[in-house]
Amino acid sequence: MADYDVIVIGAGNAALAASVSARGAGAERVLVLEKAPEQDRGGNTHYSGALFRFAFNHPDDLLRLVPKAHEAPGFMEGIEAYPAEAFREDLERVTDGRTDPELSQILIANSYDTVCWMAKQGMAFELALSLSGVRVGGVIKWPKGAIVRAAHEGVGLSRMWFNIARQAGVEIRYGSPAQRLVQDRKGRVCGVLARDKEGVREISAGAVVLGCGGFEANMAWRAQYLGRPWDHARVRGTRHNQGDGLRMAMEIGAMPWGQWSGCHATPINAEAPPYGDRELTDKTNRLSYVYGVMLNKLGLRFVDEGEDQNLYTYAKFGGIILNQPGAVAWQIFDRKAVDLLEPRYSTSRPVTADTLGGLTDQLAFDRKAAMRTLTEYNAAAGHGTFNPGVRDAMHTARLALAKSNWAQKLDTPPYYAFPVTGGITFSFGGVKVSDQAQVIGTDWDPIAGLFACGEMVGGLFHNNYPGGSGLMSGAVFGRIAGRSASAAARTAA
Ligand SMILES: Cc1cc2nc3c(=O)[nH]c(=O)nc-3n(C[C@H](O)[C@H](O)[C@H](O)COP(=O)(O)OP(=O)(O)OC[C@H]3O[C@@H](n4cnc5c(N)ncnc54)[C@H](O)[C@@H]3O)c2cc1C
Repeated sequence: MADYDVIVIGAGNAALAASVSARGAGAERVLVLEKAPEQDRGGNTHYSGALFRFAFNHPDDLLRLVPKAHEAPGFMEGIEAYPAEAFREDLERVTDGRTDPELSQILIANSYDTVCWMAKQGMAFELALSLSGVRVGGVIKWPKGAIVRAAHEGVGLSRMWFNIARQAGVEIRYGSPAQRLVQDRKGRVCGVLARDKEGVREISAGAVVLGCGGFEANMAWRAQYLGRPWDHARVRGTRHNQGDGLRMAMEIGAMPWGQWSGCHATPINAEAPPYGDRELTDKTNRLSYVYGVMLNKLGLRFVDEGEDQNLYTYAKFGGIILNQPGAVAWQIFDRKAVDLLEPRYSTSRPVTADTLGGLTDQLAFDRKAAMRTLTEYNAAAGHGTFNPGVRDAMHTARLALAKSNWAQKLDTPPYYAFPVTGGITFSFGGVKVSDQAQVIGTDWDPIAGLFACGEMVGGLFHNNYPGGSGLMSGAVFGRIAGRSASAAARTAA
């Protein structure tokens, strides 16, 4: 008899969802192997804002997750339904039509049911007010589909998953990196070679689930697959996601899938630490650029800051900033925008001045060019009516690089500049999985006994990403992987 029915590798959102799901589906002995020591546990999940994007047909559907939400003033009035077609349209638009149709269908179709399943397991949710809601008059305007997060953000999400897993009888070993997958003579994955303080040992299992993240923390892989200057990028989350699971799977013939040259990266405070800080978590993000302009060291704008709501552009703008000279930029706002800045901005001190000239004097860039850019922007801005809660079409006219929404003039002192760089969140390239989360080999056949979930699933995201989809994907495919692994373990026994 195998040591365990199911071994799950990793202990983030996806892996713990898989472990709980495996128990729920009948696997009696479920072991989670986590590389990090206990005090560093939780993977990227710990650092996340814990926003979950899911499809729902009626605002009341949210009350299953946040039952007291209707007591929040202006909450229900500001919500629009987010049917499956809207989720699909968003995913297709931001990925330039490249999202894997089969996987995205599974993600979307299972999204609401999966957050309800999480709530049933004991996960508490709350409104993602500080992340995505904007108060306009008495009403909170929400970007569609991105309204709810796990209570107490990623720290809470991770802690609740560990509690739920423990209560479900899942065994968790910290400081135990998996090194290699073990196969029987027929090629079925039947265990793992794992390391701990005592040494290296083989642990057998009926099935194995890989949920151990992407390669975002691995400098060499970033250089190899993402190219320059990604080896210099700061990492927003865990140090431990080094591509181990992808390597182990591909060593036994798993098929790489999705955009291996792409990743999720966001504008973050230029002084952010090289890896995620467990206290600061996602507070280094700087996503209110939609209400101002961004200038690089040459004093030039380089994106349409108002192309779309920030949850549809932030994941690609980080990479664009990283590719500017010196990998830095400044986000510039005037007094009018200050009350709209996300609370996270309060974790760093901006440069301030009473004139734009006084501001540019203090910044390390081509001052003349910067003043020319800001003057030209101000001359072109202000066409339309400003409304922070929707794409308001307030635009610039006759400007070579337009700003399409929220293009207010920068004309009300004081002025503020926040230095930003691009921080990598997770890599998009992964392995191919089936609709049962089974890992597919380069021969296009499933690898018996092997399942994958979370950042390791390739194909969903390309070039960009709609905010809140990563955790949702992890939970959906984690839940499926756990169920499938449990069934596979029964067959193997
Ligand atoms: C700052 C930040 C904010 C974010 N905010 C959001 C958000 O609001 N909404 C959203 O949808 N997404 C968000 N994301 C993205 C999302 O959090 C991650 O993509 C998601 O948590 C990944 O889950 P996972 O389970 O696949 O991986 P992880 O949570 O990273 O877990 C992987 C685990 O595997 C372990 N591991 C690695 N190698 C091995 C090995 N060899 N053996 C054993 N264990 C191993 C790691 O230590 C880690 O614990 C954010 C990410 C960051 C960094």
